[in-house]
Amino acid sequence: MKLKCLPILLVFALLLSACNLLPDAGGNPRAQASERSIWAMDTQMDLRLYGDSDGKTMAALTARLNELDRSLSATDPDSDLSALNSSGHSEEPRILRLTAEALAVSEQTGGALDVTLLPASRAWGFTTDNKRVPEAAALEALRERVGMDKIELREGVSVSLPAGTELDFGALAKGYAADVCRARIEEDGLSGILSLGGNIQTVGSKPDGSPWVVGVQDPDDAGRYLLTLELSGSKAVVTSGDYQRYFEQDGVRYCHILDPKTLAPVRGSLRAVTVVADSGLRADALSTALFVLGREAGESLWRRLGDFEAVWMEADGSIWLTPGLENLTQGDAFRVIAP
Ligand code: AMP
Ligand code: MG
Repeated sequence: MKLKCLPILLVFALLLSACNLLPDAGGNPRAQASERSIWAMDTQMDLRLYGDSDGKTMAALTARLNELDRSLSATDPDSDLSALNSSGHSEEPRILRLTAEALAVSEQTGGALDVTLLPASRAWGFTTDNKRVPEAAALEALRERVGMDKIELREGVSVSLPAGTELDFGALAKGYAADVCRARIEEDGLSGILSLGGNIQTVGSKPDGSPWVVGVQDPDDAGRYLLTLELSGSKAVVTSGDYQRYFEQDGVRYCHILDPKTLAPVRGSLRAVTVVADSGLRADALSTALFVLGREAGESLWRRLGDFEAVWMEADGSIWLTPGLENLTQGDAFRVIAP
């Protein structure tokens, strides 16, 4: 159950394999593609760059992703994040950045995003291979350690936590990593497409001028893609779903995204939500929050904020898009939400 997002990676590989791996007709070396797959942040990452002839950008991305993994892991006792969780204090800039974004998205979503849920995720066994339903009383006892109001952020200076409160950036770290990679690829004047455990990041333009094609999978069928999105330029496409990490007990599916109100896995009518946005960090934070909120509240959020596009997949099979995606989408029957 570790990596249920693999199918998204597969469509990525599939779509990529349809791309031209050779120099274009004019022999333009910028069209040359290079690929690498690595394991970081507890997931497979597939990187594809165009024009990285000496391999320097790919090497830099790999090093950066491994470094971010070591820094932002909530389970590695040597990470910067674990240092914050045990000491209650951090001045590490990237921890401040992620905390600031988490606080902003939490505020915008009425608390749906909550990066203090680590003790609850632990109680459900999501941080280990021993997933189980905890005792209600054990869960309730964690309440005093959980809540975004426990976080004291001095912007650009430090973050402090009371004893017992711990942060988990599982909802947004891969999006941040995508932004970091994107900046490096742009700095080096290249283009490419990355899949960081299902977080897709496109960077720049494909050498042949065609749009990037990103698949959105069927939550019930790893090998099937209900939609493809055709995107231009640099975009983040991030999905949160109940099929990515979960366990089943007595016929009930318990997924890895928790509702901060109940400290229990979200149990709504939504199977998955995909967010398309300019920033990977924001898309990742929003996809998790939108999954907690459900479609109707998510639609209201989109109307209020308007800085992202989204695809909602409901348990009844219906698919809903924001209007900005309508002309970029191919696939199964979908409906477009009212503006
Ligand atoms: P994602 O796959 O981006 O939706 O993030 C899910 C991960 O974020 C989980 O595996 C937990 O580590 C963490 N998480 C679970 N529920 C929440 C929540 N409501 N807010 C923030 N992080 C969460
Ligand atoms: Mg997320």
